[in-house]
Amino acid sequence: IEKTIEPGAGIPMNNHNGQSGITVTVAVRVRPFSTLEASHGQQSCLQVDKQDTIMIGKDKSFTFDHVFDSNTSQEQLYKSIVLPLINGIFEGFHSCLFAYGQTGSGKTYTMGTSCFGPVTPSHGIIPRVVEDICNHAKTMTKDYEISLKVSFIEIYNEDVRDLLKQHSKKILDGRSGAKDSFSLAPNTKIQVREDESGNVFLEGVNEVTIQTYEDAIACLESGAIHRATASHDLNERSSRSHAVFTIYLSKRPLQGPKTDKKIVSQFQLVDLAGSERAKRTNAEGTRLKEGISINTSLLALMEVISVLGDEKKRGSHVPYRRSKLTRILTNSLGGNSKTAMIACISPSEDSMQETLNTLKYANRARNIRNKPVVNYD
Ligand code: ADP
Repeated sequence: IEKTIEPGAGIPMNNHNGQSGITVTVAVRVRPFSTLEASHGQQSCLQVDKQDTIMIGKDKSFTFDHVFDSNTSQEQLYKSIVLPLINGIFEGFHSCLFAYGQTGSGKTYTMGTSCFGPVTPSHGIIPRVVEDICNHAKTMTKDYEISLKVSFIEIYNEDVRDLLKQHSKKILDGRSGAKDSFSLAPNTKIQVREDESGNVFLEGVNEVTIQTYEDAIACLESGAIHRATASHDLNERSSRSHAVFTIYLSKRPLQGPKTDKKIVSQFQLVDLAGSERAKRTNAEGTRLKEGISINTSLLALMEVISVLGDEKKRGSHVPYRRSKLTRILTNSLGGNSKTAMIACISPSEDSMQETLNTLKYANRARNIRNKPVVNYD
């Protein structure tokens, strides 16, 4: 892994304007035109140039850490923004990667939240992360005791639901023919709590121990089935709810002076609800017309990004406690984590207003500074 890593997961900002920490890495990905957009003769409202700059409409342009055009493969995107975070995980740094954008802009495709089976060129980020972490862990077992776990939750209507509530054994036993062996657990709601030091945790969340790639993918698939079973329409569900797949790693040297030092880290992978659900009250008319219900967690996330990303608001109160999502992501935004955001956008002119909003938020997120540290048990 070491060799293939390119710089860019957070630019060190020490001594820059007296601010310390590293910035959130922000990437934009433009998806290809859909067949529907193409058949309606939609034109592109965007132009991407080589300097990671994107022009929208005639006169607005934004520069990001990366701008990926519609020809970018899953592997190219993965190598440039996700691989650097994986190295950090093995050194004891927390990581977070989230995809933001309107429904249909490519968040799920990019995150790979519904990709199962062995990794193929079209697989998105989550299976690739799992594969690399499992492979890397395997190469270290001679020198380290390593344990890997995963959890998978969904935030829906401000309820946090455990998508892996069934016993882990059942999930892993169900690896082949998984679909038959799951039924919806009756009580999947879990509480977000804080310990004495203010660290947020999910009380009673099922953290499933995994040994192999197949184990982790069985959890991803089981969670997806659970999510689908809870709704009549999975597209509607995924446009309203936030899915958080987390990988936990602990690593302790088997020999040498540090055998009692165990590092613990986690990688949060977040597929957010459609950004059209974060509209403010002045867009209420549009929202009513479109029949879109507001999403408390997403609105709170946008507010947190607005405060943290605005130089003029530095030192102001950050409204993390306003929603379940922002509590769960407290460390990831402005805290102890290496974080990357992927803003997903459609090229089509009929999405221009929504795309412009996405680019504005992504631009704000570039100013957020985090302070990652190595975490010990
Ligand atoms: P979202 O999760 O934001 O609602 P999806 O990931 O479901 O959006 O994407 C909408 C559609 O566009 C899906 O059919 C998906 O496969 C396709 N799509 C999105 N991004 C890409 C891409 N980069 N390349 C090819 N197809 C894509």
